[in-house]
Amino acid sequence: TITVLPILGDQLSEGLASLRGRDPGACVVLLAEVRAECTYVRHHKRKIALVLSAMRHFSLRLRACGWTVDHVRLDDPANTHTLRGEVVRAAGRYRATEIVAVEAGEYRLRLDQSGWGEAAGIPLHLLEDDRFICSRDAFSRWAEGRRSLRMEFFYREMRVRTGLLVDEDGAPAGGAWNYDHDNRKPPARGLAPPPALGFTTDAHTREVLDLVDHEFAGHFGTLDGFDLPVTREQALIALDHFIDHALPRFGDYQDAMLAGEPLLFHSWLAPAINLGLLDPLEVCRAAEAAWRGGTAPLNAAEGFIRQIIGWREYIRGMYWRDMPEFATRNELGASRPLPEFYWTGETDLRCLAESIAQTRDLAYAHHIQRLMVLGNFALLVGVDPAAISDWFLVVYADAYEWVELPNVIGMSQFADGGAIASKPYVSSGAYIDRMSDYCRGCAYDVKQRTGERACPFNALYWDFLARHEARFRANARMRNIYAGWDRMAPAQREALRRSAASFLDRLVPAEPGWARSS
Ligand code: FAD
Ligand code: SF4
Repeated sequence: TITVLPILGDQLSEGLASLRGRDPGACVVLLAEVRAECTYVRHHKRKIALVLSAMRHFSLRLRACGWTVDHVRLDDPANTHTLRGEVVRAAGRYRATEIVAVEAGEYRLRLDQSGWGEAAGIPLHLLEDDRFICSRDAFSRWAEGRRSLRMEFFYREMRVRTGLLVDEDGAPAGGAWNYDHDNRKPPARGLAPPPALGFTTDAHTREVLDLVDHEFAGHFGTLDGFDLPVTREQALIALDHFIDHALPRFGDYQDAMLAGEPLLFHSWLAPAINLGLLDPLEVCRAAEAAWRGGTAPLNAAEGFIRQIIGWREYIRGMYWRDMPEFATRNELGASRPLPEFYWTGETDLRCLAESIAQTRDLAYAHHIQRLMVLGNFALLVGVDPAAISDWFLVVYADAYEWVELPNVIGMSQFADGGAIASKPYVSSGAYIDRMSDYCRGCAYDVKQRTGERACPFNALYWDFLARHEARFRANARMRNIYAGWDRMAPAQREALRRSAASFLDRLVPAEPGWARSS
């Protein structure tokens, strides 16, 4: 009897549930590079190259460990270019008697997986993906009957469960669960981030880069200077580099933005974690060890660990709890098409131009660029949440729907009605000016509210608040903001709304087809 073990492109973990405890002599591992997964949205070229190269390296690694691996290449003439087609073909090739797979992270693929057994005419056993700390069931139990599903409460439970930064008596290390109040420093003058770590490409990666360049030439983004970690060994080096050089100031400058410094003190480990090359717990334990060893302060270690056992696990729980409806949520009734410059980068708003150029070149932007520049602008101008969600899904190397969609629809666009964020993440230009150096070189003046040279974020901010007054005035966290609006002279309010309307009239919508083939 032969078992086929299909492994998806983001399941590249040697300890994967379907591999654990199994006899390699009775199994064939299947890795299939299929066009359908590269194009259901037109993913950034760099992201496709990352996944394909990591898959090829993972196959080599498994073979070295004694597994029989059938790796179907993208350019294999017999490739059916769907996962289901390749599972069926493999089942036939090996006269397999069963299929054992780990549940897909995305709703779309999980539905498809359910039909694999029937299509192949043999039993299918789907195993839970236990690379997450909180199972889907455990999350449902946590969420059940709660009035508030705020991440902070969930996070504290994850701290206790994992024991991370928890003292022997069960108290949080240092006496508090959260040190965010120490973490919002603007970039100091002359702030110098550590040198970025890049990996040179080997022959396998170079072959993939040529293939992607050729096959997906029309997709967004560039491949130049590709240097992402594609193996577990490289990912571990990237982890060490982050812990030694960037973690100590990760907390302080978590929200800071500097032109030409994409990473600052961020880890850029998300692609490796999401692919399965790094285990989220080992990453957190490394951060905890740095604090215990005295090389990183508590606010940095706690802030970093919260992103992973808090936000990452919580976001996944919310995704599975609310899919498939989640994808269609549009609580604020936003319907504007995505502005064209999100794809071309051609805009004179410098904060956006910088963030988009960096996204095009690296498939990376850090959290605050995503939330307070790119997401903030889309929310202020009222972009259709599905359209901005598609953009985020295409452009980032770490973007898989289970993590992208709740971050965009929920956290960033408030389209879930406030289940994830207690108030909309909107700001005027003042916030961007405080946290970045973008405004200094911008065509607009961040201090002006109306007029030709006024920073567009200012009028758009007040216009958004006025448009949604009925919904947000009663929000306790927004009371002071509306008090500010009330204090303005009527003529000033009018001028702000006119400025916003004239800016919105000039926004050029993107042609359809950038994100999904039309
Ligand atoms: P760091 O700042 O170094 O953070 C450490 C780790 O924490 C990350 O690697 C990641 O694993 C985790 N993390 C931090 N914040 C979140 C979060 N909100 N949700 C889940 N994990 C988190 N993250 C993705 O992995 N994929 C996405 O598609 C994605 N889309 C996003 C879209 C929007 C609008 C926003 C606001 C955030 C999104 N995030 C997404 C979360 C976060 O921005 C990225 O994880 C982070 O920028 C990745 O860079 P990093 O590895 O340098 O992160
Ligand atoms: Fe962005 Fe306004 Fe600053 Fe220009 S002035 S960089 S548009 S916030």
